[in-house]
Amino acid sequence: MLNSTAIGIALAVNSGELSATDLANEALARIAERDGEIGAFLAVTRDLARRHAERVDDAVRRGKSLPLAGVPLAIKDNMCVTGTPTTCASKILDGWIAPYTSTAVQRLLDAGAIPLGKTNLDEFAMGSSCENSALGKTVNPWDRARVPGGSSGGSVAAVAAGEATIALGSDTGGSIREPAAFCNVVGFKPTYGRVSRYGLIAFASSLDQIGPIAKTVADAALVYDLMAGRDPMDATTVDLLPEPTLTGLREDLRGVRIGIVKEFGLEKLEPSVRAVYERAYEDLQKLGAELVEVALPTADYGVATYYLIAPAECSSNLARFDGMRYGLRVEGADVGSTYEQTRAAGFGDEVKRRILIGTYALSSGYYDAYYVRAQKARTLIAADFKKAFAACDAIACPAAASPAFEFNAKADPVSMYLMDYYTIPMSLAGLPSLSVPCGYVTPEGGTLPMPLGLELSGPLFAERSLLGIAHAYERATLHAQARTIPEIVATAGAK
Ligand code: GLN
Repeated sequence: MLNSTAIGIALAVNSGELSATDLANEALARIAERDGEIGAFLAVTRDLARRHAERVDDAVRRGKSLPLAGVPLAIKDNMCVTGTPTTCASKILDGWIAPYTSTAVQRLLDAGAIPLGKTNLDEFAMGSSCENSALGKTVNPWDRARVPGGSSGGSVAAVAAGEATIALGSDTGGSIREPAAFCNVVGFKPTYGRVSRYGLIAFASSLDQIGPIAKTVADAALVYDLMAGRDPMDATTVDLLPEPTLTGLREDLRGVRIGIVKEFGLEKLEPSVRAVYERAYEDLQKLGAELVEVALPTADYGVATYYLIAPAECSSNLARFDGMRYGLRVEGADVGSTYEQTRAAGFGDEVKRRILIGTYALSSGYYDAYYVRAQKARTLIAADFKKAFAACDAIACPAAASPAFEFNAKADPVSMYLMDYYTIPMSLAGLPSLSVPCGYVTPEGGTLPMPLGLELSGPLFAERSLLGIAHAYERATLHAQARTIPEIVATAGAK
């Protein structure tokens, strides 16, 4: 049953056919058996999982029906869960125990999900490969010599390796969509403000958004529906009643206009990768969609804009880690040196790099030249999307320019930053955007086929229509059928 979808599991548990406790034990056994190789989890919350499973079984016995009854859930380790370690994969928070639970997680637990543990990420969600974690290494279940993508690498690897049925990730500039593409799962970033950030440890507050990682679009829709909506604890959540998406899933794309971005021309891609995306666009057409060319003339400035705004916000957000309140404290001769030594020992290189860039961009002499200018560019990017969406219902493009790469292949930080070329513009504009499996390529020099993801993005708050379109594509193509790692890949990778 562990290989089933969340919807399938919830049905079986609610009908009494399956016990949540048995399922939780099965999931924990699978983690014990596989996670030594995969490294998806930083902490496994066995007791918590069993306690929740008992509660679900009790509720079902009393005749209650829960939308996520018994569904094994993995949680990215930048989300607080009461009484569990929450580290952001940083030494500075190693050993810190969260005193409260984030709203998004709480809503899933209330719906009957079983919290299996906390998953690995790039430190404070800064990265595109999961290699910036200070606390563990996660491999891509499709090829263990390759990265799972980042920053939500642990969450996608857990779902791809069958260790969890659903997972939560956070996406600031692509951290749900890019790893989902690398590991052949569905990863969905909702509109900014749809899902509460309360209890999500902040990286860049104007961009951060929690979203579901799942094996199918329908599962992602269900998880999103349960999490979305106003939260009094997060003033940036919108006061708009979210339309349910699970009931909006469709089987064809008749009457749908899909925008193909002129500036994202496929000719820039490797021929084998390009062929996969050409085929994906054809498949959309075969389903009845009309493909229309749209222009995003400022999208090329996305990465540069993001790498001013995100570091600026992170330099401010991470000021709170000073050895006084949370986690690590390295005692110095006075308060100032305690701050300095704690931060010097606690943060990794990438986090320090961003704090430096952000502090510089916000400093009085440079604020107008860098930060304000980046904010203006962000407004122009959002305006381009608005214009594009006058001509189409959703935009299709690659989630990333290549499949998952090998460890240490992107040692130059800028080459890593460019991995988010296709995901960052949507984040800057706050749009809902997802990655859905769309095919495989065998990378040059590689022996194993690696998955690719099709990114679909919609106008603000158009989650229902977007997930509907993604579902039709997923149903009509075969890629989703290889949702779990074929045994042959699992064995080949283990060698
Ligand atoms: N890779 C991007 C970065 O390093 C995005 C990360 C994210 O979405 N959290 O900032």
